[in-house]
Amino acid sequence: MAEKVVIIGSGPAGWTAALYAARANLEPVVYEGAIIEENRLKGTLPLGQLALTTEVENYPGFPEGVMGPELMEKFREQAKRFGTRVVTDDIVEVNFKRHPFRLKSLEGQEVEALSVIVATGARANYLGLPSEERFKNNGVSACAVCDGALPRFRNKPLVVAGGGDSAVEEGTYLTKFASKVYLVHRRDQLRASKIMQQRVFDNPKIEIKWNRVVDEVLGTDQQGVTGVRLKGTVDSATEEIACTGMFAAIGHTPNTDFLKGQLELTPKGYVRWTKLNRCYTSVEGVFAAGDVADDYYRQAVTAAGTGCMAALDAERWLAEKGLA
Ligand code: NAP
Repeated sequence: MAEKVVIIGSGPAGWTAALYAARANLEPVVYEGAIIEENRLKGTLPLGQLALTTEVENYPGFPEGVMGPELMEKFREQAKRFGTRVVTDDIVEVNFKRHPFRLKSLEGQEVEALSVIVATGARANYLGLPSEERFKNNGVSACAVCDGALPRFRNKPLVVAGGGDSAVEEGTYLTKFASKVYLVHRRDQLRASKIMQQRVFDNPKIEIKWNRVVDEVLGTDQQGVTGVRLKGTVDSATEEIACTGMFAAIGHTPNTDFLKGQLELTPKGYVRWTKLNRCYTSVEGVFAAGDVADDYYRQAVTAAGTGCMAALDAERWLAEKGLA
């Protein structure tokens, strides 16, 4: 028998959608993602991006702050408390051209669904250099929180590429381990929020390399990363910096590969919301919530908010169609 609601993804949007759907007696199933090496490297393990961060200071209700992984465990527990079923697997294929919709998991499970909420979020980008690819897992990372404490990064200089909130947050975090952190930014002004910028300016262990990009990651197969070559964006001068790690923090890509040809996506690959102030997509009965459809706000609290909206949209749509 077809499920009433299948939710794909397990960040703030997915669990909030599950909480609301469960409390509406829709008996939701959450595909929270597979625990596999490929997902670890891509940054798409269960519990989403907040599980890859440290302290969250801007989630309302936690005046003292809360650790990202702990917050996500609480989201999960709360959704389960009302009967949400959880499958630790990825949805890798969808057929939205028939109804009930048909979804296929990485382990080969097939499930039919009367409605679907897509909440697969986004993942961190890499620079795209062949030398970066070569040293992944050997000094190159896109997750300071996951990898920062590794022995190779302790008491050594490290490089963080980027100038947004992620870059300053990761750079600040890495100063716990590194002897020095070089923040390499392609402009002469950071994009990060003012309060987080100030933390970087006040941190004596961080040096900002303005108007520079990482042009090449240097190293050997045995030692891994031993340095980076920077190139100027204004003067194209080059310089080499010795370091044992290079952390990419240059923005995100939505996790929508499995949706191509099935749902309308924006030119940047995000799911397109098709109805003003609703979480509707180009397919009736398929809703989207969180970062997978939002390249603008991208906050935990807005993701949770749209998760709630998507569940209410699904509930009302199912009722309207006499399906639940
Ligand atoms: P972002 O805001 O898009 O910033 C990306 C940064 O990387 C920008 O500084 C950009 O430079 C730079 N960049 C992009 N492509 C590059 C390339 N190919 N080479 C060199 N530099 C490149 O991404 P983000 O920092 O990951 O943040 C994403 C969202 O999450 C934001 O809405 C942010 O507020 C939120 N966030 C919030 C927190 C928090 O509140 N604690 C923490 C992390 C993230 P330009 O500035 O020149 O474009």
